[in-house]
Amino acid sequence: MKDKDTFISCLSQKQLLELDACTQCGECLKRCPVQDVTGDPSVSPPEKIRMFREFIKATDGLKSTLFGPSEIDRKLLEDFTKAVFECTTCGGCGRACPAGIFTERLWPMLRKEMVRRGLGPIGPQANTPGAIERTGNPYEKPTAERYSPWFPAEVRVAEKADIAYYAGCTGAYLAQPMVRGDVRVLSAIGEQFTMLPPEEEVCCGFPLFITGQHDMLKNLVNRLVKAYVDRGVKMLLCSCPCCVNIMVKDWPSLYGKPLPFKIRHLSQYVEDALKKGKLHIKKGLKERIIYHDPCYLSRGVGIIAEPRFILSQIPGIQLLEFERHGLDSRCCGAGGAARKVFHENAVAMGRLTIDEAVARKADKLILSCPACYEKVNEAMQGHDKQIKIVDIMELLSELI
Ligand code: SF4
Ligand code: SF4
Repeated sequence: MKDKDTFISCLSQKQLLELDACTQCGECLKRCPVQDVTGDPSVSPPEKIRMFREFIKATDGLKSTLFGPSEIDRKLLEDFTKAVFECTTCGGCGRACPAGIFTERLWPMLRKEMVRRGLGPIGPQANTPGAIERTGNPYEKPTAERYSPWFPAEVRVAEKADIAYYAGCTGAYLAQPMVRGDVRVLSAIGEQFTMLPPEEEVCCGFPLFITGQHDMLKNLVNRLVKAYVDRGVKMLLCSCPCCVNIMVKDWPSLYGKPLPFKIRHLSQYVEDALKKGKLHIKKGLKERIIYHDPCYLSRGVGIIAEPRFILSQIPGIQLLEFERHGLDSRCCGAGGAARKVFHENAVAMGRLTIDEAVARKADKLILSCPACYEKVNEAMQGHDKQIKIVDIMELLSELI
């Protein structure tokens, strides 16, 4: 790949227009968690857009058409690559953008372009395809241990069923209280559900998509879809916001046609079960709790009311809100696979979430994302403020 080659092959026409639409107004800076903890303008949304426009001008602009493309300084390209991979892809900037730039999708496509040019991904992110190839998960953890350390002995899984549960790699390996809570709640609802055997429940593709490494995506999606179809599945449930995001938004195009089953986030299914009287909360909790909206759940797929409804059904509970919540939620630092490389940023962002929860005098911080769960727990280690962190289904499973 030459630095003079086109920069626009990974972008849609809409995204090219979006790049042009940026007025450099800086509104997005107020919503960027990376800016909050680094204050580094070179990793800011307008600067990334400005630099990428320069690359396009050098290789695809009028001057380059008339006189040939110009060489781009290698250091500039490397700095840009670092900036675009330091982002948590939380989409907060897009939410604030008066020009309506859909950054949640733009940044991953700019990452894809830098991977195509051999400049990205960075650090351990580059090991992800190999790890998934060898073990089915991006953490290179043993396949045989995908379920065994956390799956409750009393929960029964059917060979075939209309409903399937996908645990996801981050939950299964790094946030086990969360997935244990998921299956306990599912079991209490009482409808039969199936799961794939550990060697078949491979990665959903999100870590590859988000780090711009798209080569294996179709294969993973086809394997998973076929395995669920073979089990007669009509509805696939999952609690991980990142998995649900790629399942809803990208699996159909990767599969090449509409999916043969519905995708539902677990909170949607549980809300429904509570409303229909299939699930009963037996114990109350006299506590102040605060719920953090994961970016990929709230901004990503619009699931905001469902977790709040579930929590509101717990007798005695007082539900608090972060200043920025719902569609305006502030990223806890775990997103976009940036936590694998920019660890200190991620810890600092996680601590901002902890600090606000403590300042609001919450007894518990409720999460609903395995990446948030892992990283915010890590951010608490050695921090001067402490709060009990609980996943929403983990909490619910103790009260039903
Ligand atoms: S997606 Fe989030 S982290 Fe990335 S630039 Fe936008 S606000 Fe900042
Ligand atoms: S808010 Fe939108 S238009 Fe303004 S600088 Fe950020 S990306 Fe550009």
